[in-house]
Amino acid sequence: MTETAPIVNWVPTRDFRRACAVCQWCDSRSLPIPVGADGRPFFLGVGGQGWLESPYPISHQHADGSRGSKYTCPACAQLCATT
Ligand SMILES: [Zn+2]
Repeated sequence: MTETAPIVNWVPTRDFRRACAVCQWCDSRSLPIPVGADGRPFFLGVGGQGWLESPYPISHQHADGSRGSKYTCPACAQLCATT
């Protein structure tokens, strides 16, 4: 177990022009989607994949050490919706 590995809410592609969102609940990843000016995945207008974004400023640090917006995959979003 690597304690130094940062918890990430999204993973940029090699060219940093796209990123995969990482589900905050199950760690599954989205397809690569275009990122906004600050490097975050830009979900507005993407649709179709069913991912939800909990928007936070890029400077916001969460208790788990990750920063910025958190994302929920379609499967987990469905679980949330039915509870
Ligand atoms: Zn999930």
